[in-house]
Amino acid sequence: ATEVRLASRPHGWPTAANFEIAQATLPDPAPGQVLVRNLVMTVDPYMRGRMNDTRSYVPPFAIGEALDGGAVGEIVSSTVDSLRPGDVVLHGLGWRSHALLDAKNATKVDPTVAPVNAYLGVLGMPGLTAYAGLLKTAEFQQGDAVFVSSAAGAVGQVVGQLARIRGASRVVGSAGSADKVAYLTDELGFDAAFNYKDGPVADQLAAAAPDGIDVYFDNVGGDHLEAALSRLNVHGRITSCGMISVYNNTEASAAPRNLALMIGKRITMRGMLVNDHASLKDTFIAEVAPLIASGELRYRETVVDGLAQAPEAFLAMLRGENTGKMLVSI
Ligand code: NDP
Repeated sequence: ATEVRLASRPHGWPTAANFEIAQATLPDPAPGQVLVRNLVMTVDPYMRGRMNDTRSYVPPFAIGEALDGGAVGEIVSSTVDSLRPGDVVLHGLGWRSHALLDAKNATKVDPTVAPVNAYLGVLGMPGLTAYAGLLKTAEFQQGDAVFVSSAAGAVGQVVGQLARIRGASRVVGSAGSADKVAYLTDELGFDAAFNYKDGPVADQLAAAAPDGIDVYFDNVGGDHLEAALSRLNVHGRITSCGMISVYNNTEASAAPRNLALMIGKRITMRGMLVNDHASLKDTFIAEVAPLIASGELRYRETVVDGLAQAPEAFLAMLRGENTGKMLVSI
């Protein structure tokens, strides 16, 4: 089996030299185990944090060992009755061609209900993050004006559309290219969108949301968060989902400098982790799968071909070269 290992820990931006492609020999499945041939894997922003040697909500990757993360694959051999060869499963041992795992850690998925890639994106972890982060964490209400950053990404594209479908008064998104901005306004039905590289976020957000915002879904942190604090209305809410603008920083960032605004505006800012919202999964699928089927909720993916390209796909995602979920077909 081929696997991608962590060769060294990055300082600042990771590079290809931090990864190593290696061969491993897998034993036959022990009782209770299954062998899976992976079809597709995900590269996610949170994996950057796991490359550091710091304790967090997920343990760090170990140097010299295969990385891991979400993947969908086909059972090759099985020692349990519940999973048979040919079954397609979602599991946590990506970054390798074949995975040997306990059957209890594999969830069967139906490739006739949705394409297998969707279980890693719009109907998977990022989709649930959007759903829980908007409806639960930010307590979105019909009539709210919503701003979401990294809006053309895996999580952001779902946040903005859910807000629109659920009756937001205005949906504004930011992203890092003109093509992404056009995708948001022309295809996803955002009311306004801007390229944060075109000028100060605060000015562009003020122009895009002249009546202020009630909810900020934060995927980026830094100057985006600062701009949102200035633009939020009284009793505004912030979902702190991610802060990708600081993940590769070696020095702490200065923004937001205007936190004191939280007091007068009685702003609520609440961190969220998707892992806490597993109980919402069925409700989420029941609501979102039909929206996808009817075409009301659209999504894109960026798929890179080949396990050996996985490190480059991860780096490209950090640079913003993906629209929608970044995936690697194996
Ligand atoms: P995306 O698909 O949005 O991909 C990451 C995107 O981040 C890039 O495409 C890039 O797009 C953007 N980006 C990179 N650097 C910057 C920067 N300096 N400023 C602004 N944008 C930047 O990833 P996901 O949808 O998977 O994740 C989005 C966020 O949600 C991340 O912060 C992630 O950590 C977080 N997250 C949190 C979860 C939780 O449980 N709390 C679960 C899942 C995700 P662009 O071209 O626009 O720059």
